[in-house]
Amino acid sequence: MRPSCHSCRFHCLDRPGEVTIGDFWGIEKYSSIDPRGGVSLVLVRDDQEELIDALGCEMAIEEHEIPHAVNERQPTLSHPMLAHAGRAGFFAALQKKGFSRAMFEVYAKSFLRKFLPKGRRVSVKNSRNIAADVVFPDGTLLKNRLVQSTTDCCGCGTCSLVCPMGAISMERDNEGFVYPRIDEEKCTNCSLCEAACSFALDKKASVTKPGIRVFAAVHHDVKVKSSSSSGGAFWALASYALDQEGVVYGCSFDADLNPRHIRCETLSDVKKCQGSKYAQSDSFTVFEGVKKDLKQGKTVLFSGTPCQVAALKHYLKIKKLGIGD
Ligand SMILES: Cc1cc2nc3c(=O)[nH]c(=O)nc-3n(C[C@H](O)[C@H](O)[C@H](O)COP(=O)(O)OP(=O)(O)OC[C@H]3O[C@@H](n4cnc5c(N)ncnc54)[C@H](O)[C@@H]3O)c2cc1C
Ligand code: SF4
Ligand code: SF4
Ligand code: SF4
Repeated sequence: MRPSCHSCRFHCLDRPGEVTIGDFWGIEKYSSIDPRGGVSLVLVRDDQEELIDALGCEMAIEEHEIPHAVNERQPTLSHPMLAHAGRAGFFAALQKKGFSRAMFEVYAKSFLRKFLPKGRRVSVKNSRNIAADVVFPDGTLLKNRLVQSTTDCCGCGTCSLVCPMGAISMERDNEGFVYPRIDEEKCTNCSLCEAACSFALDKKASVTKPGIRVFAAVHHDVKVKSSSSSGGAFWALASYALDQEGVVYGCSFDADLNPRHIRCETLSDVKKCQGSKYAQSDSFTVFEGVKKDLKQGKTVLFSGTPCQVAALKHYLKIKKLGIGD
């Protein structure tokens, strides 16, 4: 995970999107739904009655109380994930020895540790605060008006989109995560990039925010369910958007297995977005397309991580206000 994920503000019920989809871990404690093959956890803003109806058209849905979803089985709705104790060692080995060797070393170490007598085991703790300098492969440090340390940036790329001088490029650091590098010779100090950064907005996390309804949902079609990561909620929402003659934006793999956000006009395009891809996609490349579709009055379903959804909403907001265009 990128460092920003361990201090991210989206681990609460104050959701950036109208709908949040995840895995309903522990559903068997509260329901007779068969958990095999995955059950979707769907959080819907309570003013989105239409979306609840849309889900109900294709899925078996069951309403739940908030504590059924926010508990020790689903920790990411109440606090960020802790960074793995072997994280630093993994990335150090990755840079020197490559992926397979780095994976082997991390797993071998944690496996062998179990065989040491208790007194000889060095205590290693998972941690949340892993802020460090951003270092590029050429050895240069990244310190600019947007980023001072690794936890300042989620890599959403919005700053690079709004810069009127084309001064910002998204570049990979030593760990392989993208950050905005500013070409100071092109920069005119207009500050638009700072205004566009939704990740820097201060927003207090709340785990008791009212106005969210919680559902367990399972798609009626077994084929849809088996090609989805959870219960198939994304497919049901995408079908609804296409039925409205709308468009869907989601994350698919390109030919080189890089996760990329794409625009879908048909269910066969939507199929490419099914399944979780555990690497960061370049969602900002479709923000302009979303804006155009909305301007034409189309229904748009955008699916992405919470920081991508927040970034898109903030981008659309500042574009509407005319900043940075
Ligand atoms: C990186 C990542 C971390 C997750 N962590 C959790 C978690 O901690 N707890 C939890 O309950 N659920 C988590 N999920 C969500 C869960 O794995 C399923 O994606 C979700 O339940 C949707 O499943 P589905 O059956 O409705 O649809 P699917 O058809 O499987 O839909 C997949 C959807 O995810 C989107 N997607 C896939 N990969 C990416 C990506 N790399 N970036 C942005 N969007 C992507 C696609 O656009 C599509 O809309 C995570 C998903 C991802 C991608
Ligand atoms: S919302 Fe973004 S920054 Fe936060 S945990 Fe998810 S991917 Fe990481
Ligand atoms: S301050 Fe303005 S010109 Fe400079 S990088 Fe940011 S947006 Fe671009
Ligand atoms: S706008 Fe996005 S990419 Fe740019 S600094 Fe903020 S979080 Fe990072």
